Amino acid sequence: MSLFVQMNLTCPECAEVFTYEAVGSVNADRRSDLRDEILEGSFQTVSCSACAHAFRLEPDFNYLDVGRGQWIAALPARNLRDHLEIAADKQAVFDLSYGSQAPAAAQSVGQGLQQRLVFGWPALREKLVLQEIGFDDVLWEVAKLDLLRSLPEAPLAEGVDLRLLGLQQDMLDLAWIRADSEEHLNGFQVSRALYDDIVAAPAPWAAVQALLGASMFVDIQKLFMGEGEDAA
Ligand SMILES: [Zn+2]
Repeated sequence: MSLFVQMNLTCPECAEVFTYEAVGSVNADRRSDLRDEILEGSFQTVSCSACAHAFRLEPDFNYLDVGRGQWIAALPARNLRDHLEIAADKQAVFDLSYGSQAPAAAQSVGQGLQQRLVFGWPALREKLVLQEIGFDDVLWEVAKLDLLRSLPEAPLAEGVDLRLLGLQQDMLDLAWIRADSEEHLNGFQVSRALYDDIVAAPAPWAAVQALLGASMFVDIQKLFMGEGEDAA
């Protein structure tokens, strides 16, 4: 089931203090409306009870969708630097819930679950989009690297992510997005051949594919922070 916890929030606009049901975990099999809200970008958006100012809580919950085979630990964008430690913690959480240390029935559920760790709402949304259109997320990150080689103006930086927004016909909608504020810096389209060509001939990318898929944190961001220790 999905869990919510009462939280005291302070409005950043008028300093009103009010309570809100912050999410602790999402079960998308039972609450497909919560998955829809994540895709729409509205999930956990709060409206102040005094001045109606709207703001969004940072993600900090586990997402489960057994039907689509997804288990995702979603954390605030600002925690990205600690991804190695957090990935180890979340792996332990998964192992207890659905992995080697879980009851047999839970383990059989866990075998069908892809385990992922994301930082920020845009990263979480992208994982849902990739599942929806049938893309392998490791190979998609490889495709981003391939794309970056031909984008000299790429605003890649810590906290600014390249995210897939959706697939229209044969074109992929992408955008550079600030992970914390979700501000879209610019959007553009590329042919889905970018991805399909890599799926058809992945061999030249084997090393980076292994690096990206070595832990539950599957994101090219980890390659740009000088940390490849988890590639073991
Ligand atoms: Zn307010």
